Amino acid sequence: MDQQSFISYLDEWIPKHTDDMISSLLELISILSTDQAPAEGQPFGPEVARAFDYYIQKASEFGISSKNVDGYAIHAEIGSGDEIVMALTHADVVPIGTGWTRNPLGEVHNGKIYGRGAQDNKGPTIACLYALKAIKESGASLNRRIRHVVGGNEESGFRCVRHYFEVEEKPTYGFSPDAMFPLVYAEKGSMNVRVTAILEAGKYSLIQISGGERPNIVPEEANALLKVPEGEEQHVVNALQTFIPHVEDIVGGPGPLSFEFIIEPGALTINCTGKACHASVPWEGTNAVAGLLHLIACLGDQLGSRDLIKFLAHAADIYGKGLNIECEDDISGKLSCNLGVCESSHKNGNTVVTGIYNIRYPVKASGQELKQRALTCERPETPSLTVEVISLSNSHYTDPDSFLVKTLLQIYREETGDYSPPIAIGGGTYAKVIPGGVAYGPVRPGTPETAHQADEFISIEDLLLLVKIYARAMLALAQ
Ligand SMILES: [Zn+2]
Repeated sequence: MDQQSFISYLDEWIPKHTDDMISSLLELISILSTDQAPAEGQPFGPEVARAFDYYIQKASEFGISSKNVDGYAIHAEIGSGDEIVMALTHADVVPIGTGWTRNPLGEVHNGKIYGRGAQDNKGPTIACLYALKAIKESGASLNRRIRHVVGGNEESGFRCVRHYFEVEEKPTYGFSPDAMFPLVYAEKGSMNVRVTAILEAGKYSLIQISGGERPNIVPEEANALLKVPEGEEQHVVNALQTFIPHVEDIVGGPGPLSFEFIIEPGALTINCTGKACHASVPWEGTNAVAGLLHLIACLGDQLGSRDLIKFLAHAADIYGKGLNIECEDDISGKLSCNLGVCESSHKNGNTVVTGIYNIRYPVKASGQELKQRALTCERPETPSLTVEVISLSNSHYTDPDSFLVKTLLQIYREETGDYSPPIAIGGGTYAKVIPGGVAYGPVRPGTPETAHQADEFISIEDLLLLVKIYARAMLALAQ
């Protein structure tokens, strides 16, 4: 069957199966498959296992063979041949959260299917299953097997697919409907760097600091407690206020960057507010922790551990200058760096400060080389200071001129009329684990992304469009 006749086939097949697809999606959404404590054969707990069972039950009703891979992931497969075309989605969801006006466990309203996971990633999961069913029933001949893999913990660590690819075959062509259209062909690598040191006392001493909760978010709030000589509190505040414009210049971003000073006898609390954003685009935010550290460093030589505080602040440079890892390429742009977490703790009478920096490096750069550069970057000669690389993950790149990318782009363009170019991003999609794979949908440019939010939904129209696009893509890659 050629693509033209398959398109006509789908145009008849999809309307006949629309009601079934909606009920299947609602049933899958009704299982709140968040990551939970492991049990025997259920590494992500009972609810993810129930979602897997539901999928396998559906596949068997459709006469499609399936496999549960040690409870980490499942797959359904049609066709025969040595090679595999793979679609990868996930069955786990983030918790419901608050603020819903629709039923988070599934509801149809005004042409939209609401519920946790509707868009991320149960809608695409059901779309891929029905795409397999449509291809199977069309009788189209396949030169490769088509396999739909469903992982169980995309939202909390990707252990599902790491295990899967250790024990299962790798695909010839693969895509993951867990990001956006038209297609993501390049994802930066990432690296987390941890800096720790003991804070020394001075005339002015930093005794407590806290800001940020996760390395992958630019912190919006930060606060610090300083010890200052009694009677000098107001004088210190006045001096610091004169430095604020200078700090705003260094930290940059869209702002605002604001400071609040609270005086107590012999102590000064500084609260700083910036603007949060995702760590892969730190230039879209204003880092409150970086602002606070830069301001405190302005206290000069009489500040205890001043060089160290300056180092922590400079290491927060959004392009990585402070860690000597600045670089860029023509595909994915500049390296980005975010000081995502800064906190202090008390150990053996010392105050220990820790900063965690989340770095996204360009696809052409070497992660190993950047790691070495960070480990040997210029720093103060403080014996207690350590710089460690606590995680390093590869970048991901698929040639935009490859058969895979050209085929997927063409199908998306024919179905939507949207000619947006393929995308290079800061990284982190599920496609990163598919050797040679790309992210392909489900969110189209200019349409709402509701993943992880209240009132998450997928429109019925989009669900049907996904079935058509994914069925066409699977068939085109398998012929
Ligand atoms: Zn997802």
